[in-house]
Amino acid sequence: VFNFAAGPATLPENVLLKAQSELYNWRGSGMSVMEMSHRGKEFLSIIQKAESDLRILLNISSDYAVLFLQGGATTQFAAIPLNLCQPDDTVDYIVTGSWSDKAYKEAARFSKPNVIWTGKSEKYTKIPSFDSLQQSPHAKYLHICANETIHGVEFKDYPKPNNPNTILIADMSSNFCSKPVDVSKFGLIYAGAQKNVGPSGVTIVIIRKDLIGNAQPITPIMLDYKIHAENNSLYNTPPCFGIYMCGLVFEDLLAQGGLVEVEKNNQKKAKILYDAIDVSNGFYRCPVDKSVRSLMNVPFTLEKSELEAEFIKEAAKEKMLQLKGHRSVGGMRASIYNAMPYAGVEKLVAFMKDFQARHG
Ligand code: PLP
Repeated sequence: VFNFAAGPATLPENVLLKAQSELYNWRGSGMSVMEMSHRGKEFLSIIQKAESDLRILLNISSDYAVLFLQGGATTQFAAIPLNLCQPDDTVDYIVTGSWSDKAYKEAARFSKPNVIWTGKSEKYTKIPSFDSLQQSPHAKYLHICANETIHGVEFKDYPKPNNPNTILIADMSSNFCSKPVDVSKFGLIYAGAQKNVGPSGVTIVIIRKDLIGNAQPITPIMLDYKIHAENNSLYNTPPCFGIYMCGLVFEDLLAQGGLVEVEKNNQKKAKILYDAIDVSNGFYRCPVDKSVRSLMNVPFTLEKSELEAEFIKEAAKEKMLQLKGHRSVGGMRASIYNAMPYAGVEKLVAFMKDFQARHG
């Protein structure tokens, strides 16, 4: 089947087969990764290799710590203000969809967040022009969601904080490792693994080391970046199997030629799908501003909305699964992460043309 789910999402077949081949007996250890002590030499080699491969993929300098955490990106919505500001500090949020809105609302419990731009009145179909942003003069950070998984809008470039003391923070959950990123522009990048790089249960945080160590006194120990950085993500029992899977995905992305190649593939896939929508004379519609359409999540509707359930049903019969749009926006959504093969998108496009010919 081709699985278009938004996350947890499809993983590369060769990675799954590799994990299967060493499921019972990891590289002659006689143990499954699930059965190993997280402090044993076998698992230490797994987590260290995962980190070093990720550093190569994203060209992460030694000024940054890489943390493998739990609790999903949702936990980071709280951990970020708890670690990077005091309760009375101002922080800025650009709200481009449901996820950045959730991040902003959580930040209000631990800081004084300002929404400096929201796309709500335009149903989250746009990214603001950076010149027009009214940033707060002393904000501790400026937070964006690099790719809004539900609404399908993606930052193609990043805003620069006005103040040198303000850092840029991005939720990259749904476009992590889908293209090269200049990490040095950010104070912190975070991402749940379950779209592009592994199973759910692992959250990756890349944070500039000088920002670590100023958590609010109420910060639970499990949310304190200092604790995790000092303990190389092994303060408590980490999600071992998930980290191992992420490591296999990182190896696979490197073997593909790194993120430059990965991005080229993602662009090719997204192009044929958006083209199919745009040449359909309005039969299919994508509401997102063309310049900021996501390479990862492609939401679309049918002009004849009464046919949408039929579209999803017929697609599933043809083994194209999980195309239903998020309940908050309706319609369809095709998530075409790194692991979705080109052939999967081609098949979807052929199906869309055939469906239009029959119902148009
Ligand atoms: N941010 C983005 C962009 C997401 O797509 C998601 C989940 O889909 C989240 C945050 C929340 O992630 P989690 O469910 O891992 O907490």
